Amino acid sequence: MSTPRLVINLDHLSDNAATLVGRLGRRGIRVSGVTKAVLGSPEVAWAMVRGGVAGLADSRIENIEVLRAAGITAPITLIRSPMLSQCERVVQSADVSLNSELRVVRALSRAAGAQGRTHGVVLMVELGDLREGMLAGDLEAAAQAVVALPGIALRGIGVNLACQNGAAPSGETMSELSGLANAIESALDVRLDVVSGGNSANLEWALGAGAVGRVNDLRLGESILLGCETLQGNPISGLHADAFTLVGEVIEAKRKPSQPWGLIGPSTFTALSPVEDRGVTGRVIVALGQQDIDPAGLVPPVGYSILGASSDHLVLDAGSNPLPTVGAELHFGLDYRALLRAMTSPFVTRVFTGGMPVAAPDQASDRSRVMTASR
Ligand SMILES: *Cc1c(COP(=O)(O)O)cnc(C)c1O
Repeated sequence: MSTPRLVINLDHLSDNAATLVGRLGRRGIRVSGVTKAVLGSPEVAWAMVRGGVAGLADSRIENIEVLRAAGITAPITLIRSPMLSQCERVVQSADVSLNSELRVVRALSRAAGAQGRTHGVVLMVELGDLREGMLAGDLEAAAQAVVALPGIALRGIGVNLACQNGAAPSGETMSELSGLANAIESALDVRLDVVSGGNSANLEWALGAGAVGRVNDLRLGESILLGCETLQGNPISGLHADAFTLVGEVIEAKRKPSQPWGLIGPSTFTALSPVEDRGVTGRVIVALGQQDIDPAGLVPPVGYSILGASSDHLVLDAGSNPLPTVGAELHFGLDYRALLRAMTSPFVTRVFTGGMPVAAPDQASDRSRVMTASR
């Protein structure tokens, strides 16, 4: 089998989705499964659907088009504000989009009219993390404008926290969101069926004891994929943290001094910092690099530590352990950043294990496409 490869356990992913769907369902919260970290992989999307998510979500229209081309008919939300230049494609393939600019919603309205469709809009409100969203004071007037647009259905409001500045989703911010939903409903005499409280960073709040108020939707990526909440990075009990494994191949294994020699300066990927002298140690090079992974986000196999990576050499310290043979395969765990980069690298192939997705129209051809699109 080719290396490097990302091995993706679909059973673990659908288990994770099912566990979160069950726990949040008891709190009146639906799950939108976010596929952006896996580039809209139809296999992963099917695993999430099998786990019972209410819909799928992705930040890039290209990924949503991949899901549609694979025959996925579940509701899909675009969770980044549509680019003005992509509004036709958004209306074509996404049911709903998250929006914070009226100019974009007006363009969606024109595209929906031209295509004879209705496009759902969720207005994003800024509650402190300072990424996307309208200020709370502007939300009601915006909702009023959206309701008046042909081809557009105001589906609800949402917030995103903990992605830009680490502003955490607290009981206070969530009740502010609920209050805004109530205020818009009574001012405009509309019903908002989506109050989307955030992402995987919301789980501690959502699964805690406090009232959830009007919040009835979370957009979950990392927690389904990696089994952890994202505020502290803690594992979530009962979830699989090992759905993804990166397999790399050893291209050099030697005992060498631990300290560099010659005239030493900073290099492209490393700052100038003194290296501790630990005598002669086992040094192993795996054919992976910054182009494929974030070395800080890789979990090495037992007995190894990661010394660093340049574009295409990952250097490991094997200490005084026996050296692996050249050609041996080493298995690594990944955090979200390493996963994102591995999925995006054209050099990393993908191998799916576990239960195959339920039948989709052109699923077989799509799987071979995904697996051969690796170079
Ligand atoms: C990425 C993203 C999510 C999902 O975040 P996770 O931490 O992976 O759960 C949800 N909402 C928005 C707007 C996002 O950009």
